[in-house]
Amino acid sequence: QLYNEVIELKGNIRVFCRCRPLNQNEIANGCNSVIEYDSSLDNELQVVSSDSSRKHFKFDHVFRPEDNQEAVFAETKPIVTSVLDGFNVCIFAYGQTGTGKTFTMEGTTENRGVNYRTVEELFHKSEERAGIMRYELFVSMLEVYNEKIRDLLVDGSNQPAKKLEIKQAAEGTQEVPGLVEARVFGTEDVWELLKSGSRVRSVGSTSANEMSSRSHCLLRVTVKGENLINGQRTKSHLWLVDLAGSERVGRIEVEGERLKESQFINKSLSALGDVISALASKTAHVPYRNSKLTHMLQSSLGGDCKTLMFVQVSPSSLDLGETLCSLNFASRVR
Ligand code: ADP
Ligand code: MG
Repeated sequence: QLYNEVIELKGNIRVFCRCRPLNQNEIANGCNSVIEYDSSLDNELQVVSSDSSRKHFKFDHVFRPEDNQEAVFAETKPIVTSVLDGFNVCIFAYGQTGTGKTFTMEGTTENRGVNYRTVEELFHKSEERAGIMRYELFVSMLEVYNEKIRDLLVDGSNQPAKKLEIKQAAEGTQEVPGLVEARVFGTEDVWELLKSGSRVRSVGSTSANEMSSRSHCLLRVTVKGENLINGQRTKSHLWLVDLAGSERVGRIEVEGERLKESQFINKSLSALGDVISALASKTAHVPYRNSKLTHMLQSSLGGDCKTLMFVQVSPSSLDLGETLCSLNFASRVR
């Protein structure tokens, strides 16, 4: 009972903001940072416009350019490890292309991100609990592009002939029949899967970054737990989502395929915003069915599921407009 109360009080939806450093190009071009922080507060930031007007934003935590991957994971860890206690968890990285969504989630070989650190922590914690609980971990990786689902753990040329679709399972959960679920026994298994998934993702596009800015990439960790004392079994999902770039694409600049893509992206990102804000405001009707993304995540969003959104921003004066859009979007869901 007490436990439920604590969760209720703290809320199940968190928003963390992360601002990347100015890059070499921006520094060379004399860009200024438009984001300022209060030295004593770790949950506020201000955006300073060219007319010196300031807009204040408050989140559950604000990470600054100097905060490294360890610092980010230290705040994220309690949320991700709750999947071992049977909670479903969703973590999203939202923001304009180039603001560090992939850096936060995937990271680089030297600076591994939330995805790898999460799995590492899950293995670590499951060893700690070995006398009481037995856990099995499975990983799936998929992409949603133009409202179509693609399995990233299947080689491009071996993709199933039948499209992957979302099905309502008997227990009222959503399943994607045919999606590969790979059992993993250690962190290196996972790192290899993540790398091969990323390779499959970029096939057919001129660059990995080009494709990733227009599709959502979802990593799903399934945890099956068995309590060795009372025999109780649990199954829960942890979703780690690198969203498509949120930047608005001008209608005049694009046409054809590119316009269709951006309409699909806008639709699914606003559907996600609608779902999370409905949950945050405890509205009775939550519009899960408006996009593949929210439909697939339905049983992992809401109820006693835990949700974390990283809103990623650029400090550059040139990105001011998009930065304000992202911060406003994130304020709406909080
Ligand atoms: P996105 O996925 O949002 O398009 P990326 O993760 O690809 O953005 O980041 C763009 C570039 O900025 C990459 O070269 C990345 O390594 C770098 N970068 C992003 N965030 C940080 C950070 N916090 N610290 C250092 N470099 C970063
Ligand atoms: Mg990216």
